[in-house]
Order: sequence, then structure tokens, then C-alpha cells
Amino acid sequence: MQFVSTRGQAPALNFEEVVLTGLAADGGLYVPKELPSFSSAEIAALANADYQQVAFTVMRPFVVGVLSDDELTAIIDKAYREFRHPAIAPLIQTDRNEWVLELFHGPTLAFKDFALQFLGHLLDFLLARRGQRVVVLGATSGDTGSAAIEGCRRCDNIDIFILHPHERVSEVQRRQMTTVLADNVHNLAVTGNFDDCQNIVKHSFRNQDFLPDGRQLVAVNSINWARIMAQIVYYFYAGVALGSPHREIAFSVPTGNFGDIFAGYLAKQMGLPVSELIIATNANDILHRCISSNDHSKKPLHHSLSPSMDIMVSSNFERLLFDLYNRDGAEIRRLMDEFDQGEMTLSATAMDQARVLFSSFRQDDEAMLKVIREVCAATGYTLDPHTAIGVAAARARAAEISGPIACLATAHPAKFPTAVEQAGLPTASLPNSMSNLFESEERFVVLPNEVSAVQSHVAAHCR
Ligand SMILES: *Cc1c(COP(=O)(O)O)cnc(C)c1O
Repeated sequence: MQFVSTRGQAPALNFEEVVLTGLAADGGLYVPKELPSFSSAEIAALANADYQQVAFTVMRPFVVGVLSDDELTAIIDKAYREFRHPAIAPLIQTDRNEWVLELFHGPTLAFKDFALQFLGHLLDFLLARRGQRVVVLGATSGDTGSAAIEGCRRCDNIDIFILHPHERVSEVQRRQMTTVLADNVHNLAVTGNFDDCQNIVKHSFRNQDFLPDGRQLVAVNSINWARIMAQIVYYFYAGVALGSPHREIAFSVPTGNFGDIFAGYLAKQMGLPVSELIIATNANDILHRCISSNDHSKKPLHHSLSPSMDIMVSSNFERLLFDLYNRDGAEIRRLMDEFDQGEMTLSATAMDQARVLFSSFRQDDEAMLKVIREVCAATGYTLDPHTAIGVAAARARAAEISGPIACLATAHPAKFPTAVEQAGLPTASLPNSMSNLFESEERFVVLPNEVSAVQSHVAAHCR
């Protein structure tokens, strides 16, 4: 399968090349040239499949020619081996027509493990075959860093360096990263904010001369295609469990960078009968403003009780725009240039199409806490603050939707105790496997907020 850039000027790549790249050379993001599609009969045949089998079926068309069936099976088996629930992504019913899809049974208690466990094992396999070593460099405001470290800690051919803003991530999130003492894992606490960290990373990807000879950087944020691909799987898995292809399912997705919900959009394009995709945002509502009133403008960052969705600009939205503009790279270049000035306005046709696919909803902290209390009072179930925003959005749309609504539960409530406490509920306890998190030794270095300081640390410490 070939992959093309959303900005139309970078060369097409195959699956292996696309996994080992960051942004395309023209500044765009890679997407498949053509999507595979599944018939109703093929979807019906997944009825008794386990998670790993669904993963194999959904991902196989993307990797043909790069991975054999046995190789793909082995990578999938390793990726989901450390999940703590036999169903991998279990569904819990929280109302007559409403389910929570629990995506937090992986090693770091957030849905990012689905993609990053897979990506770690995939990279390890590809690099061993190529006889190549790479440097993974990323910035995190919380969940991505720990999931990436867990995904790469056992990969012989990877040295991973994760930047986080010093003293600005929660203690659970920091300890999940800094207590991993593997030789190839490096935590860099930068004395700046998340945007500063991300700028250092972006800058380093553009000019990689600081690396030792023969090394290259690999991106593990959601611009990496393999992450999106691995996330398509749970839409099919949940859909089939709730009656696909015989009835349509709606999905409500707590959204930050638009990666997770973009995977839902792809599942629909690939044949899964999806009635509606609900974009649920917190006060950082650029996507809600865009869908509801064609206002796609940058606003100052708001710190909320759902910090993993505190994002000003959703990078994966460009992948959707590419489709809404009939895959015209020149149009996307023009739009993104416009957006660099602060805002962009979508064409009437693009807006109409977007509104057929998506609805959107914005929820502030107060209303989110109310939903955590409501659901717990009615069912005894505790939601994490991100998931609660998705459930709130689902409830706002419920009168219009006749079939089941699956709300993606993106994190375990024990990972975000502040919100649960503020809702007046007892905080959930961490799973046993993590009970010694607060006693474990930590390892990280504090670096000044300077490109050169980070780059020389990386160059000196890759093996
Ligand atoms: C990353 C994250 C999100 C947002 O996911 P996107 O793919 O960026 O939209 C939501 N909830 C949690 C808990 C996360 O870690």
C-alpha cells in the first residue's frame, strides 16, 4: 500500500517507510492512497473473533508486502499481552442505550497504550530486520510519554528521549515515565512549558545533524500513521460487539489532537456502519467551534481538569481536511498557510460534508464533574474526567440517536484523582501492578529550555 502526503508535494511512501518518518518533507501528514473496505459479510464474520483476530483483519491490508501474516500476528500478540483484561477493550453499559468502551487496561492506564504498545513492537521488528538503530524523540504533557516509554523500553534498536515540562505534569504521570530505569530510556525535564518542549522536538526533526552518524529520529506522536491504524481496530471490535453490521453504532470520543476520532472516521470509511461521530471537547474547543460555527481560530490555552485534551491546535484535523477537499494538496497548503496567520475558514461544501459525519460538543469542568456524579449515583461506575466529557456529549445527542452509543473511555479514573475528588467521590485505586509507583526510584535530568542543551544530551546518550 502507498501513502501520500496531505500537502501533495512529498514522495509517496510504503508502510515501512511511513512508520519510520515523522512529518512528510512538505510539512504534511501521510495518509493511505486508498482505504481498504470491508463488506457486511466480512464484518459479520468477526462476530466471534477476539481482539487480536479483529486487529489482524483490520490492519492486514495496510501492511501487505511489508509484514507477512505470521509477522503481523506475532507483533499483535506481543502488543496486547500486557493488557490486564482478557477482553482487551471491554464494554460496560451505563444507560439504556449507552456503553463505555474501556480503553485503559494497558500498562499506563490510558488508551494510548493500544497504539504505542503496537508501535514499539512493530519498530523493534522492522529495525532488527534492517539492522538499524534509531532515536525516538517526543514531547509529552502527560499520557503520550509514559505510553511511548512503555512501548519502547524493551526495544534493543531504540533509544528513547521524552521531554516533559519540569514540574508541570501530575505526579502519577511523571512517575509512570521516570520510574522506568531501562538503559535506553531517557526522561528530560525541560524548564519550560509543553509548547516549549514541542518546539524543541519540531526543531530537532527539521535538522537532524546533531545526531551521531547514521542515526535518524522517529516520531511516536499521533502524526505516526501506525498509531492511527492501530486505533481503527477498537471501533470495529466495539461495533461488532454491539451488533454491527446489523445496526448502526454512534461513537462519542473525547478529543484533543483528533487522532482517536480520526481513526473512527476511517473505520466508517472502511465499511463499519457508524451513524454518528461525536467530537467531545473541553474548554479548549477549537474543533467544536469549527463544526458548530466554522470558527477554526487559535485561542489561548485553558488549563482544565481533563489535561490530556488541553490542546490549542489539533494536528490530525489536517488529515480530515484532505478528504473534505477531495484530496487536493494545493488547497490544503493554502488552508494551512491561512491557519498559520491564526485562523482558517472552511468552504461551504467542506462544512456540509463535515457536519454529515460529525457532531460536536463542548463541556466545561463544572458540567463534567456533574456527569461523573450522575453516572456514579445511577450505576456505581466511576468515570475519568476525559471519559466524562464524552459521556456528557453522548447524553446531549441521545434524543437524536436511536441505536447504541459507545463512549470511548480514554483513561482509568485512578490516573486523574483530582477530578474524581472534586466530584466528591472516593478516588479509585491504582491496579496492583502499579501499587509501588510512589515508592519506586525515579530517574530524570533537568535541562534548560534550549534546543542546544537537549540536542547535546541526546547525542551524548544514545548508545
Ligand atoms: C491523548 C488523550 C486524549 C485525546 O486523544 P486525541 O487522539 O489526541 O484526540 C483523550 N483522553 C486521554 C486520557 C488522552 O490521554
